[in-house]
Amino acid sequence: MALRSFIEVAEDSNFPLENLPFGVFKPRDGSARVGVALGEYVVDLAALEAAGHFKDLGDQKLFGRDSLNDFLALGRPVWKKVREILQTLLAAGNPALRDDLKLREQVFHRQSDVAMQLPVKIGNYTDFYSSYHHAHNVGTMLRGAENALMPNWKWLPVAYHGRASSVVVSGSGVRRPKGQIKPPDAPSPVFGPTKSLDYELEMAFLIGPGNSLGQPVPVDQAVDHIFGFVLMNDWSARDIQAWEYQPLGPFLAKNFCTSISPWVVTMEALEPFRKPLPKQDPEPLPYLRAKNDFTFAIQLEAALQTPKLKTPQTITRTNFQNLYWSVSQQLAHHAVGGCNLQPGDLLASGTISGPSEDSRGCMLELTWRGANPLKLESGEERKWLEDGDILSITGWCEGDGYRVGFGEVSGKVVPALA
Ligand code: CA
Repeated sequence: MALRSFIEVAEDSNFPLENLPFGVFKPRDGSARVGVALGEYVVDLAALEAAGHFKDLGDQKLFGRDSLNDFLALGRPVWKKVREILQTLLAAGNPALRDDLKLREQVFHRQSDVAMQLPVKIGNYTDFYSSYHHAHNVGTMLRGAENALMPNWKWLPVAYHGRASSVVVSGSGVRRPKGQIKPPDAPSPVFGPTKSLDYELEMAFLIGPGNSLGQPVPVDQAVDHIFGFVLMNDWSARDIQAWEYQPLGPFLAKNFCTSISPWVVTMEALEPFRKPLPKQDPEPLPYLRAKNDFTFAIQLEAALQTPKLKTPQTITRTNFQNLYWSVSQQLAHHAVGGCNLQPGDLLASGTISGPSEDSRGCMLELTWRGANPLKLESGEERKWLEDGDILSITGWCEGDGYRVGFGEVSGKVVPALA
């Protein structure tokens, strides 16, 4: 049964009253501030704060800011209180804001009239590798099916430290990177634009309160440190990756650009879509064993728009439940040696591939390293992304009469610098 607001929300909207994802936006005439999405609108929390609607939180000013970091640092009791205030204030039967037409003019902005920014200042970004099917497919290509998974894969959530400064918000162009590429039959590498630009369909979560240096986070307390989730595209240059990745892992193949969606869907909004984490075999070491560990049922799609396609063509259909390791395990593992996580840190899932061919979350797997090009409805073929292509990832949870959605993360490939 869907909640009702006095703001009309279409049944298939990503942003009903049950969702209220947080973001940072800039209105046409004004500075960046915090808002939540509701239907076609952004609700301006700085304007509500100025009007005294958050006075229960004390006199701290939280929302007239260009990032969510300070709000994230406050933790779940404050997040829940703000959500409760908003759900009450925006409900159909409450006249407090509904009938205050002057305040409504300041509070509601059409999403089409504002510019979304990165929701947080990201201090650190980590990318996991937690989909069994992705790891198995990539391992099969590199080492054969017998040795597809490295011996550590089912014992720990494998990850690398990524680059935070090149994380951009959805809608930003993605410049084709140049780098060293070693053609298989050439004696030495060449320098030039990547010929195998790829996307990776991922989700990522944002850290709320951090932990002190030297103090691990017990796996059963990990969720207290998670604010919410975004969609992510980990753009990848496969030819650069193939030459550089040994022995220390990805570097320039990944650090030129990573795109995230602007709206952060909170753990509270995702709560109805929790599912038990499937049994893990072998049983993980004790520090990774959470009581009642969980995943979420989140449907995910990637669509490709080429210059010739009339409408975007869906090329991946997958689900967050395809991840082997839980977010609690990822977080607990990240901090177990004493690494301090900080508000606004971004921890990503890795490519989310499922068991079927159409659930593969990147071109590398979909085309099996270019051996089976994608055939598009326009008659075009794609082994990898080409200049002018737009890749968009969407995600949503299907509720009873409503949908908790993430919106999208989208990026257009622009040619390499001359
Ligand atoms: Ca990745």
